[in-house]
Amino acid sequence: EKMQAISGREEKILVLVRLRPLNEKEVSVNEVADWECINDTTIFYRNTLREGSTFPSAYTFDRVFRGDCSTKQVYEEGAKEIALSVVNGINSSIFAYGQTSSGKTYTMNGITEYTVADIFDYINRHEERAFVLKFSAIEIYNEIVRDLLSTDSTALRLRDDPEKGPILEKLTEETLRDWGHLKELLSFCEAQRQVGETYLNEKSSRSHQIIRLTIESSAREFLGKDKSTTLAASVNFVDLAGSERASQALSGGARLKEGCHINRSLLTLGTVIRKLSKGRQGHINYRDSKLTRILQPSLGGNARTAIICTLSPARNHVEQTRNTLLFACCAK
Ligand code: ADP
Ligand code: MG
Repeated sequence: EKMQAISGREEKILVLVRLRPLNEKEVSVNEVADWECINDTTIFYRNTLREGSTFPSAYTFDRVFRGDCSTKQVYEEGAKEIALSVVNGINSSIFAYGQTSSGKTYTMNGITEYTVADIFDYINRHEERAFVLKFSAIEIYNEIVRDLLSTDSTALRLRDDPEKGPILEKLTEETLRDWGHLKELLSFCEAQRQVGETYLNEKSSRSHQIIRLTIESSAREFLGKDKSTTLAASVNFVDLAGSERASQALSGGARLKEGCHINRSLLTLGTVIRKLSKGRQGHINYRDSKLTRILQPSLGGNARTAIICTLSPARNHVEQTRNTLLFACCAK
């Protein structure tokens, strides 16, 4: 028997913004950084010379992180509380949203590692319960779901179980032993994402990666007895496709075009997030994409959600940066 997750108040989505520094290449071509965090919650566009600029110059969020903030800081002050709600039986999702090269993977990898370290620490401090920590990883590319822990590249089937919700058949789940095991699995996934890929960058900017940690725990005194109750919950780390794939359509205006340039999962996520942020009235279209179907149990209801919007400060990237900020504004 599974214990119901603690029922909580409806949480709003936590929206964090992370500005990366200019990279070496940008510095070498004298690229200018036009965005600046002026305090812990506001990011500011300081190119006042830009002619005819009609968009606001200041944007406020739950928390913004400057280019010189470490991923540890983003984790501790932003994502940690939501990621660790998993140990209390509450599902959660943490997304990285932003254009290609803005720092999504850099941010998500670090946050996944810090979370696992804290979960192991928690497990060690709570000997009264028995814990199992499981790891799985998938990639969604063109609405096809692939198991990143398997060398078999056939698509995973997604079906709805009346009790358990959405299930990916034959998905590999590894029980995490220790830190070294995590590192091993992460590099295996990384290699899997690259298998047989000629246009690597093209693909990695269009595919979504979900790393899921599931914790099951039960009180040791009841272990194996009738009274035994298991608490189970998952935290999902979602490294999204580059937002340049959807930003035009998401920021309104442009009519949806058919064809390969539209990333269904990214667009559907946008509409789901906007509805959730407005208080979940009416129908939410989770079923319109693989990404939102798979994540539904970790998005609605009692689940907790954080979105980390990653930004390039470069003048050259202003259009995409602005689109990302518009998405972030819709989510808060
Ligand atoms: P994305 O996944 O959004 O395409 P990456 O995470 O791969 O972007 O980041 C692109 C490059 O910028 C990588 O070389 C990464 O190491 C570097 N980078 C990203 N964010 C930061 C940051 N906050 N500080 C330092 N380097 C960063
Ligand atoms: Mg990436």
